[in-house]
Amino acid sequence: MARINPDFTTELKKYGVFDANACYNCGNCTAVCALSDQANSFPRKMVRYSVLGLEEDIEMSLDPWLCYYCGECTTTCPREAEPGELMMSLRRWLTSKYDWTGLSGLLYRSVSASVVAFILLAVGVIGFAALHDFNPELVMHFGHYFEMIAIGGVMLIILVPNIFRMWRLTVFRPDGKFFVKAHFKALGELIVHMFTQKRTLGCDDSQVRWFEHLVLVIGYLALLFTTVFLDWFSAESRTVMLLGYAESAMIFVVTFLFVLARITRKQEASKHSHPSDWLFVIWLFLMGISAFAVRLFIDLKILEGNFWLYLIHLIILVQWALIIVPFGKWTHFLYRSFAMYFRRIKEIK
Ligand code: SF4
Ligand code: SF4
Repeated sequence: MARINPDFTTELKKYGVFDANACYNCGNCTAVCALSDQANSFPRKMVRYSVLGLEEDIEMSLDPWLCYYCGECTTTCPREAEPGELMMSLRRWLTSKYDWTGLSGLLYRSVSASVVAFILLAVGVIGFAALHDFNPELVMHFGHYFEMIAIGGVMLIILVPNIFRMWRLTVFRPDGKFFVKAHFKALGELIVHMFTQKRTLGCDDSQVRWFEHLVLVIGYLALLFTTVFLDWFSAESRTVMLLGYAESAMIFVVTFLFVLARITRKQEASKHSHPSDWLFVIWLFLMGISAFAVRLFIDLKILEGNFWLYLIHLIILVQWALIIVPFGKWTHFLYRSFAMYFRRIKEIK
């Protein structure tokens, strides 16, 4: 028998703003949702599951990841139950279920825990630099290696086990069988969605939104490659220098637009900003702009006298890599892509 949690909506409210109990099950939300189909019918079903406390069924469902938050369902809900925001809250909640460390849930539920984590990492970076007499060469050397180690470490220690947990819950547990062939056949779906997020185009509002996200993903991955593998801050090649400038500018321009959208709250999807949404867009903006400024200071030969700028950049980078990437909203990008892959496996098995 399915596990029932009578306090589920109360618990879920720590992850977002909605009123599932206001729902009278009319089905308007599912009817208007451009991404809902017979095989994955949402969001009404997820609203019902939440009200009934069917926690286990929600855990095993991929539906929350198949919603791309256009907000159309929320606009048409006659009861202002905020089904779009409920789907978003379920994604945050699921993230905390997949995460073996438990830190995701803690950081989502508690702003003070997030603040403490951010402060501790900032103090750690400053302490490390102080131990090395704020030696620019040494600290920058550390910063470069930190990126490499952080990418590999976070991936192997946190994200891969979490994706495995997601797979176990959503693919393996429902029927207890492992279909090897289907896993290979569906792999293309993972790659396509990871790099294009093309499902967003299915939403009625979304050409611009999809394009902005695409620019951001390309800019982010390219900057990662340029800083880690082409060592942008030390590079002397004009091509690499310009590449890094262009990529970091792409990031801070697009994220500035995202921050603006959250401040003006004109779009439905930006009306309810959870602290994790703010952290994601603001830290990505700060990463882009501080990386751009550091390279500019290097080219103007004034970084040594203004080493504080690199320290700020390093603090932002460490907080991003050790908090937001493994436990925050960044993971949604990963889980969404895997959800499309897992859905395909279930279709063809
Ligand atoms: S439109 Fe609103 S009231 Fe109707 S089923 Fe959806 S959430 Fe419930
Ligand atoms: S927010 Fe958009 S994609 Fe998500 S359930 Fe509502 S209508 Fe569908």
